[in-house]
Amino acid sequence: MATGNLTIDLSALARNWRDLNARSAGETGAVVKADGYGLGATVVGRRLAQEGARTFFVAAAEEGKILRGALGPGPEIFVFSGHMEGDTALLRDHGLTPLLNSVDQLLRHVEALPGHPFGIQLDTGMNRLGMEPVEWAAVRDIALSLSPRLLMSHLACADTPSHEMNPKQLHAFREMTDGLGVRRSLSATGGLLLGPAYHFDLCRPGIGLYGGLPFIDASPVVTLDIPVIQVRDVAVGETVGYSNTWTATRPSRIATVSAGYADGLIRAMGENARLYADDREVPVVGRVSMDLITADVTDLADDPASLQLLGRHQSVDTVADMAGTIGYEILTSLGGRYRRRITE
Ligand SMILES: *Cc1c(COP(=O)(O)O)cnc(C)c1O
Repeated sequence: MATGNLTIDLSALARNWRDLNARSAGETGAVVKADGYGLGATVVGRRLAQEGARTFFVAAAEEGKILRGALGPGPEIFVFSGHMEGDTALLRDHGLTPLLNSVDQLLRHVEALPGHPFGIQLDTGMNRLGMEPVEWAAVRDIALSLSPRLLMSHLACADTPSHEMNPKQLHAFREMTDGLGVRRSLSATGGLLLGPAYHFDLCRPGIGLYGGLPFIDASPVVTLDIPVIQVRDVAVGETVGYSNTWTATRPSRIATVSAGYADGLIRAMGENARLYADDREVPVVGRVSMDLITADVTDLADDPASLQLLGRHQSVDTVADMAGTIGYEILTSLGGRYRRRITE
Protein backbone atom coordinates (compact mmCIF):
# COMPACT_ATOMS: atom_id res chain seq x y z
CA MET A 1 0.00 0.00 0.00
CA ALA A 2 1.23 3.49 -0.81
CA THR A 3 1.40 5.91 2.13
CA GLY A 4 -0.77 8.48 0.38
CA ASN A 5 -2.07 9.76 -2.93
CA LEU A 6 -0.17 12.66 -4.39
CA THR A 7 -1.93 14.34 -7.29
CA ILE A 8 0.00 16.67 -9.55
CA ASP A 9 -2.19 18.98 -11.60
CA LEU A 10 -0.32 19.75 -14.79
CA SER A 11 -2.94 22.18 -16.03
CA ALA A 12 -2.40 24.27 -12.88
CA LEU A 13 1.36 24.10 -13.49
CA ALA A 14 0.83 25.26 -17.08
CA ARG A 15 -1.48 28.06 -15.92
CA ASN A 16 1.14 29.26 -13.44
CA TRP A 17 3.77 29.36 -16.18
CA ARG A 18 1.42 31.25 -18.52
CA ASP A 19 0.55 33.75 -15.76
CA LEU A 20 4.20 34.39 -14.96
CA ASN A 21 5.05 34.57 -18.65
CA ALA A 22 2.34 37.20 -19.13
CA ARG A 23 3.93 39.33 -16.40
CA SER A 24 7.46 38.92 -17.72
CA ALA A 25 8.92 41.51 -20.10
CA GLY A 26 11.17 39.00 -21.85
CA GLU A 27 11.36 35.24 -22.15
CA THR A 28 10.20 32.99 -19.30
CA GLY A 29 12.18 29.86 -18.60
CA ALA A 30 11.54 27.22 -15.96
CA VAL A 31 13.62 25.94 -13.05
CA VAL A 32 13.14 22.19 -12.65
CA LYS A 33 16.03 21.37 -10.28
CA ALA A 34 15.59 18.86 -7.45
CA ASP A 35 13.39 16.69 -9.68
CA GLY A 36 11.04 19.54 -10.51
CA TYR A 37 10.81 20.65 -6.84
CA GLY A 38 9.89 17.08 -5.94
CA LEU A 39 7.06 16.77 -8.44
CA GLY A 40 8.96 14.97 -11.21
CA ALA A 41 11.24 16.86 -13.60
CA THR A 42 10.27 14.67 -16.53
CA VAL A 43 6.50 15.29 -16.45
CA VAL A 44 6.90 18.89 -15.36
CA GLY A 45 9.51 19.62 -18.05
CA ARG A 46 7.48 18.03 -20.82
CA ARG A 47 4.33 19.91 -19.88
CA LEU A 48 6.13 23.24 -19.68
CA ALA A 49 7.85 22.64 -23.02
CA GLN A 50 4.43 21.92 -24.51
CA GLU A 51 3.23 25.22 -23.05
CA GLY A 52 6.07 27.05 -24.80
CA ALA A 53 9.00 27.11 -22.35
CA ARG A 54 12.26 26.87 -24.30
CA THR A 55 14.85 27.41 -21.56
CA PHE A 56 15.26 25.19 -18.52
CA PHE A 57 17.50 25.26 -15.47
CA VAL A 58 18.75 22.41 -13.28
CA ALA A 59 21.21 22.34 -10.40
CA ALA A 60 23.44 19.46 -11.51
CA ALA A 61 24.52 17.91 -14.80
CA GLU A 62 22.94 14.58 -13.80
CA GLU A 63 19.57 16.30 -13.55
CA GLY A 64 20.19 17.82 -16.97
CA LYS A 65 20.77 14.39 -18.48
CA ILE A 66 17.37 13.16 -17.24
CA LEU A 67 15.65 16.33 -18.43
CA ARG A 68 17.25 16.10 -21.86
CA GLY A 69 15.90 12.55 -22.12
CA ALA A 70 12.42 13.91 -21.45
CA LEU A 71 12.60 16.99 -23.68
CA GLY A 72 14.67 15.74 -26.59
CA PRO A 73 16.93 18.10 -28.52
CA GLY A 74 15.93 21.73 -28.86
CA PRO A 75 15.25 23.35 -25.49
CA GLU A 76 18.30 24.87 -23.83
CA ILE A 77 19.18 23.35 -20.46
CA PHE A 78 21.39 25.41 -18.16
CA VAL A 79 23.23 23.89 -15.19
CA PHE A 80 23.59 26.20 -12.15
CA SER A 81 26.53 24.34 -10.62
CA GLY A 82 28.56 25.02 -13.76
CA HIS A 83 31.27 22.70 -15.05
CA MET A 84 32.49 20.50 -12.21
CA GLU A 85 35.19 17.88 -12.35
CA GLY A 86 33.55 14.82 -13.88
CA ASP A 87 30.79 16.74 -15.67
CA THR A 88 32.46 17.00 -19.07
CA ALA A 89 30.97 13.91 -20.70
CA LEU A 90 27.49 14.64 -19.34
CA LEU A 91 27.56 18.22 -20.60
CA ARG A 92 28.81 17.15 -24.01
CA ASP A 93 26.66 14.06 -24.54
CA HIS A 94 23.41 15.66 -23.43
CA GLY A 95 23.86 19.14 -24.83
CA LEU A 96 23.82 20.92 -21.46
CA THR A 97 24.97 24.51 -20.98
CA PRO A 98 26.95 25.06 -17.77
CA LEU A 99 26.72 28.38 -15.95
CA LEU A 100 30.39 28.87 -15.11
CA ASN A 101 30.87 30.18 -11.59
CA SER A 102 34.59 30.88 -11.35
CA VAL A 103 37.74 31.37 -13.37
CA ASP A 104 38.65 27.77 -12.53
CA GLN A 105 35.41 26.57 -14.09
CA LEU A 106 35.93 28.78 -17.12
CA LEU A 107 39.41 27.32 -17.66
CA ARG A 108 38.16 23.77 -17.15
CA HIS A 109 35.38 24.37 -19.64
CA VAL A 110 37.44 25.86 -22.45
CA GLU A 111 40.08 23.18 -22.07
CA ALA A 112 37.71 20.22 -21.83
CA LEU A 113 35.00 21.33 -24.25
CA PRO A 114 36.27 24.07 -26.56
CA GLY A 115 33.38 25.53 -28.55
CA HIS A 116 30.74 24.04 -26.26
CA PRO A 117 28.13 26.62 -25.15
CA PHE A 118 28.30 28.10 -21.69
CA GLY A 119 26.88 30.93 -19.60
CA ILE A 120 28.39 32.87 -16.74
CA GLN A 121 26.98 33.23 -13.25
CA LEU A 122 27.93 36.47 -11.52
CA ASP A 123 27.82 37.17 -7.81
CA THR A 124 26.04 40.45 -7.08
CA GLY A 125 26.13 40.18 -3.31
CA MET A 126 24.56 36.91 -2.28
CA ASN A 127 27.98 35.30 -1.87
CA ARG A 128 26.82 31.85 -2.82
CA LEU A 129 27.68 31.15 -6.47
CA GLY A 130 29.22 33.11 -9.30
CA MET A 131 32.18 35.28 -10.22
CA GLU A 132 32.77 38.35 -8.07
CA PRO A 133 33.11 41.76 -9.77
CA VAL A 134 36.93 41.72 -9.63
CA GLU A 135 37.15 38.19 -10.98
CA TRP A 136 34.69 39.04 -13.75
CA ALA A 137 36.63 42.16 -14.71
CA ALA A 138 39.76 40.04 -15.07
CA VAL A 139 38.28 37.46 -17.45
CA ARG A 140 35.43 39.39 -18.99
CA ASP A 141 37.03 40.13 -22.36
CA ILE A 142 38.22 36.57 -22.82
CA ALA A 143 34.83 35.21 -21.80
CA LEU A 144 33.02 37.60 -24.15
CA SER A 145 35.25 36.58 -27.04
CA LEU A 146 33.92 33.05 -26.55
CA SER A 147 30.28 34.21 -26.95
CA PRO A 148 28.59 33.22 -23.68
CA ARG A 149 24.93 32.27 -24.05
CA LEU A 150 23.83 34.04 -20.87
CA LEU A 151 25.01 36.29 -18.06
CA MET A 152 23.04 35.66 -14.89
CA SER A 153 22.92 36.41 -11.20
CA HIS A 154 20.54 35.61 -8.35
CA LEU A 155 18.68 37.82 -5.87
CA ALA A 156 18.99 37.06 -2.17
CA CYS A 157 15.89 38.93 -0.88
CA ALA A 158 13.45 39.09 -3.80
CA ASP A 159 10.61 37.63 -1.70
CA THR A 160 10.69 40.89 0.29
CA PRO A 161 9.89 43.55 -2.35
CA SER A 162 10.91 46.49 -0.15
CA HIS A 163 14.28 45.01 0.79
CA GLU A 164 17.20 47.33 0.07
CA MET A 165 19.20 44.36 -1.20
CA ASN A 166 17.04 44.22 -4.36
CA PRO A 167 18.03 47.58 -5.90
CA LYS A 168 21.57 47.05 -4.63
CA GLN A 169 21.92 43.75 -6.51
CA LEU A 170 20.15 45.20 -9.56
CA HIS A 171 22.71 48.00 -9.64
CA ALA A 172 25.63 45.58 -9.23
CA PHE A 173 24.27 43.36 -12.00
CA ARG A 174 23.91 46.29 -14.38
CA GLU A 175 27.41 47.50 -13.55
CA MET A 176 28.76 44.09 -14.47
CA THR A 177 26.68 43.49 -17.60
CA ASP A 178 25.37 46.72 -19.18
CA GLY A 179 26.36 47.24 -22.79
CA LEU A 180 27.94 43.82 -23.28
CA GLY A 181 25.35 42.63 -25.79
CA VAL A 182 24.86 39.26 -24.10
CA ARG A 183 21.48 37.85 -22.98
CA ARG A 184 20.88 38.46 -19.29
CA SER A 185 18.85 36.88 -16.50
CA LEU A 186 18.54 38.11 -12.92
CA SER A 187 15.19 36.99 -11.59
CA ALA A 188 13.56 33.88 -10.21
CA THR A 189 9.89 33.97 -9.08
CA GLY A 190 10.42 36.76 -6.55
CA GLY A 191 12.39 39.00 -8.90
CA LEU A 192 9.89 38.48 -11.72
CA LEU A 193 7.19 39.86 -9.40
CA LEU A 194 9.34 42.93 -8.58
CA GLY A 195 8.61 44.31 -12.03
CA PRO A 196 10.21 44.84 -15.45
CA ALA A 197 13.40 46.53 -14.21
CA TYR A 198 14.38 43.11 -12.89
CA HIS A 199 13.40 41.05 -15.93
CA PHE A 200 16.17 41.58 -18.50
CA ASP A 201 15.97 39.01 -21.32
CA LEU A 202 14.96 35.94 -19.37
CA CYS A 203 13.25 35.19 -16.05
CA ARG A 204 13.75 31.85 -14.31
CA PRO A 205 10.84 31.05 -12.01
CA GLY A 206 10.76 27.83 -10.01
CA ILE A 207 8.51 27.86 -6.93
CA GLY A 208 5.79 30.00 -8.53
CA LEU A 209 5.25 27.34 -11.19
CA TYR A 210 4.64 24.76 -8.48
CA GLY A 211 2.08 26.88 -6.65
CA GLY A 212 4.27 28.40 -3.95
CA LEU A 213 4.91 31.84 -2.50
CA PRO A 214 5.91 34.54 -3.23
CA PHE A 215 3.56 34.07 -6.24
CA ILE A 216 0.35 34.69 -4.27
CA ASP A 217 -1.86 34.24 -7.34
CA ALA A 218 -0.47 30.78 -8.09
CA SER A 219 -2.86 27.89 -8.68
CA PRO A 220 -2.24 24.96 -6.33
CA VAL A 221 -0.48 22.14 -8.18
CA VAL A 222 -0.29 19.39 -5.54
CA THR A 223 -2.97 17.57 -3.60
CA LEU A 224 -2.04 15.06 -0.92
CA ASP A 225 -4.68 12.66 0.42
CA ILE A 226 -3.66 10.22 3.11
CA PRO A 227 -5.66 7.03 3.76
CA VAL A 228 -7.03 6.38 7.25
CA ILE A 229 -5.78 2.99 8.49
CA GLN A 230 -7.68 2.80 11.75
CA VAL A 231 -10.13 4.82 13.85
CA ARG A 232 -10.57 4.31 17.61
CA ASP A 233 -12.37 5.72 20.63
CA VAL A 234 -10.19 7.30 23.28
CA ALA A 235 -11.55 7.97 26.79
CA VAL A 236 -11.00 11.13 28.81
CA GLY A 237 -7.51 11.05 30.35
CA GLU A 238 -6.04 8.66 27.78
CA THR A 239 -3.08 9.81 25.69
CA VAL A 240 -2.17 9.53 21.99
CA GLY A 241 1.21 8.90 20.41
CA TYR A 242 4.86 9.11 21.43
CA SER A 243 5.73 10.86 24.67
CA ASN A 244 2.05 11.27 25.61
CA THR A 245 2.00 14.80 24.28
CA TRP A 246 -1.81 14.80 23.82
CA THR A 247 -4.41 13.82 26.39
CA ALA A 248 -8.13 13.49 25.65
CA THR A 249 -10.22 16.03 27.55
CA ARG A 250 -13.47 14.64 26.14
CA PRO A 251 -14.45 11.22 24.78
CA SER A 252 -12.63 11.32 21.43
CA ARG A 253 -12.43 9.54 18.11
CA ILE A 254 -8.91 9.34 16.78
CA ALA A 255 -8.03 8.49 13.16
CA THR A 256 -4.58 7.19 12.24
CA VAL A 257 -3.41 8.06 8.73
CA SER A 258 -0.62 6.33 6.85
CA ALA A 259 2.06 8.96 6.28
CA GLY A 260 4.66 10.53 8.52
CA TYR A 261 7.95 12.31 8.62
CA ALA A 262 9.59 9.68 6.40
CA ASP A 263 7.19 10.94 3.71
CA GLY A 264 8.28 14.52 4.17
CA LEU A 265 5.55 15.46 6.63
CA ILE A 266 8.08 16.94 8.89
CA ARG A 267 7.82 16.31 12.57
CA ALA A 268 8.17 20.00 13.36
CA MET A 269 4.66 20.73 12.08
CA GLY A 270 3.54 18.70 15.10
CA GLU A 271 0.45 19.81 16.83
CA ASN A 272 -0.10 22.98 14.84
CA ALA A 273 -1.05 20.86 11.86
CA ARG A 274 -4.50 20.35 10.46
CA LEU A 275 -5.93 17.84 8.01
CA TYR A 276 -9.16 18.07 6.05
CA ALA A 277 -12.08 15.68 5.67
CA ASP A 278 -13.66 17.22 2.57
CA ASP A 279 -14.31 20.75 3.83
CA ARG A 280 -14.05 20.01 7.56
CA GLU A 281 -10.83 20.83 9.36
CA VAL A 282 -9.53 18.25 11.83
CA PRO A 283 -6.58 18.86 14.16
CA VAL A 284 -3.52 16.63 14.25
CA VAL A 285 -3.04 15.34 17.79
CA GLY A 286 0.08 13.82 19.29
CA ARG A 287 3.47 13.57 17.63
CA VAL A 288 4.00 13.01 13.93
CA SER A 289 5.74 9.63 13.73
CA MET A 290 7.79 8.11 10.93
CA ASP A 291 4.91 6.54 9.03
CA LEU A 292 1.79 7.67 10.87
CA ILE A 293 -0.12 10.74 11.97
CA THR A 294 -3.07 10.83 14.36
CA ALA A 295 -5.95 13.28 14.03
CA ASP A 296 -8.98 14.10 16.17
CA VAL A 297 -12.08 13.30 14.08
CA THR A 298 -14.55 13.40 16.98
CA ASP A 299 -16.56 16.23 15.43
CA LEU A 300 -17.12 14.48 12.09
CA ALA A 301 -20.46 12.77 11.47
CA ASP A 302 -18.73 9.75 9.89
CA ASP A 303 -15.30 8.20 10.05
CA PRO A 304 -13.34 9.44 7.00
CA ALA A 305 -11.65 7.05 4.55
CA SER A 306 -8.84 9.52 3.99
CA LEU A 307 -7.71 12.96 5.13
CA GLN A 308 -6.17 15.68 3.03
CA LEU A 309 -3.02 17.56 3.97
CA LEU A 310 -2.35 19.58 0.80
CA GLY A 311 -5.00 20.86 -1.57
CA ARG A 312 -7.49 23.66 -2.00
CA HIS A 313 -7.89 24.17 1.76
CA GLN A 314 -4.25 24.16 2.63
CA SER A 315 -1.28 25.21 0.49
CA VAL A 316 2.34 24.09 0.72
CA ASP A 317 3.06 27.45 2.36
CA THR A 318 0.40 26.98 5.06
CA VAL A 319 1.86 23.60 5.90
CA ALA A 320 5.35 25.11 5.80
CA ASP A 321 4.29 27.79 8.30
CA MET A 322 3.03 25.14 10.68
CA ALA A 323 6.45 23.55 10.57
CA GLY A 324 8.47 26.77 10.70
CA THR A 325 9.86 26.29 7.21
CA ILE A 326 9.16 27.37 3.61
CA GLY A 327 7.01 25.86 0.85
CA TYR A 328 10.15 24.89 -1.09
CA GLU A 329 11.16 22.49 1.68
CA ILE A 330 7.72 20.91 1.96
CA LEU A 331 7.59 20.27 -1.81
CA THR A 332 11.10 18.93 -2.20
CA SER A 333 10.65 16.68 0.86
CA LEU A 334 7.55 14.89 -0.47
CA GLY A 335 8.67 11.31 -0.30
CA GLY A 336 8.92 8.36 -2.63
CA ARG A 337 6.23 6.26 -0.95
CA TYR A 338 3.21 8.08 -2.34
CA ARG A 339 1.14 6.83 -5.23
CA ARG A 340 1.57 9.61 -7.74
CA ARG A 341 -1.20 10.57 -10.09
CA ILE A 342 -0.85 13.13 -12.83
CA THR A 343 -3.92 15.05 -13.96
CA GLU A 344 -4.04 17.15 -17.12
C1 LIG B 1 16.31 27.82 -7.38
C2 LIG B 1 16.77 28.92 -8.23
C3 LIG B 1 15.86 29.64 -9.04
C4 LIG B 1 14.37 29.47 -8.91
O1 LIG B 1 13.97 30.14 -7.74
P1 LIG B 1 12.45 30.22 -7.25
O2 LIG B 1 12.53 31.07 -6.04
O3 LIG B 1 12.05 28.83 -6.95
O4 LIG B 1 11.65 30.82 -8.33
C5 LIG B 1 16.38 30.56 -9.94
N1 LIG B 1 17.71 30.80 -10.01
C6 LIG B 1 18.60 30.16 -9.23
C7 LIG B 1 20.04 30.48 -9.35
C8 LIG B 1 18.17 29.21 -8.30
O5 LIG B 1 19.06 28.60 -7.52
